Amino acid sequence: MDTYQIASRMDKLDASGIRKVFDLAAKMKDPINLSIGQPDFDVPENLKQIAMDAIAAGQNKYTQTQGTPDLRAAIAKTCAAEFGWSDAADRPMLVTSGVSGGLLLAILATVNPGDEVILADPYFVMYTHLINLAGGVPVLVDTYPDFQLTAARLAPHITDRTRMVILNTPSNPTGAVMPASELQAIADLCRQHKLLVLSDEIYNDFCYDGEFASFARYYEDTLLLRGFSKSHAMTGWRVGWATGPAAILEKMTMLQQYTFVCAPSMAQAAAAMALETAIDHHVASFATRRDMVFDALGDWGLAKPGGAFYAFVPAPGGNATEFVTRAIANNVLVIPGNVFSQKDTHFRLSFATAEDKLAEGLAILKSLA
Ligand code: PMP
Repeated sequence: MDTYQIASRMDKLDASGIRKVFDLAAKMKDPINLSIGQPDFDVPENLKQIAMDAIAAGQNKYTQTQGTPDLRAAIAKTCAAEFGWSDAADRPMLVTSGVSGGLLLAILATVNPGDEVILADPYFVMYTHLINLAGGVPVLVDTYPDFQLTAARLAPHITDRTRMVILNTPSNPTGAVMPASELQAIADLCRQHKLLVLSDEIYNDFCYDGEFASFARYYEDTLLLRGFSKSHAMTGWRVGWATGPAAILEKMTMLQQYTFVCAPSMAQAAAAMALETAIDHHVASFATRRDMVFDALGDWGLAKPGGAFYAFVPAPGGNATEFVTRAIANNVLVIPGNVFSQKDTHFRLSFATAEDKLAEGLAILKSLA
């Protein structure tokens, strides 16, 4: 065959923006890479050992689709402690193949063609692609320049076609953390309109200016997604989890049965212990690097990131693609804002890299301004 049919739903996916950046990056020799979306520390040793022991002990088979009893019990314990859910053990808990797996299941299980899903712009790229794949309509709320999704900004976008709101705190790509007071206000608004809220809290452990506040604490119809990729550097191990309304979790579990089947067995064994494995020293080290970024670029009008390991920096001159092209020509890799946004005025800088490299990269960026 010299032509192959590609399903028309694939037309809704477009990775050209990020591909261009990585094509440029491939030509760089030993770049200062400030584009990385994963921690620069390795999986804690105790967790590696548990995964290796699990393999040696023959835990290499399918697990239950919803996840191993041990991991689900550990997740329930976390929810009981954090949200005060006395019935956590009775709530549906689904172990997913990363938060990405959870996002796919959640969106396929809830979004009909034509349904509107509201989310902040800038956004994590996967959201818009998955909504489009489901035939839904991403409705973007402009959150420039402080990147705070507030109830006041959200409210005008609610229509009778709105099916769901997606929250992401701390945020990729902006590092913005939503304060508890705003979560409360959004919960009130969503309750009034009977909206489902998907809360992606994959960066919940990475908060630098106070306690993390979860939307699940404020709103009963929260579809909560969390994972281990960022907290315990397990990006390649593919484990996350979901909890929320039983009717939705039931459908997500069924869909997982017919798609991913289960999350990797040895990774689930380690993840149960990950929930009890502190990473405070890593968080402290990220806080130091966040401060380095803000000290260097604060006077560019940068909104100080409160969490995750990203800063969304206003590009000098106002054109991010143009600035990023110059940065790449000077051996610093960052990602232009139009990969994550309707606008192309900012760039994403990841500070998940060694302090000396970060300092070097910041100095070069400043010299280009
Ligand atoms: N949500 C957000 C906001 C992310 O940044 C990422 C990873 N870049 C994911 C979900 C997916 O993570 P994973 O599938 O590795 O759990």
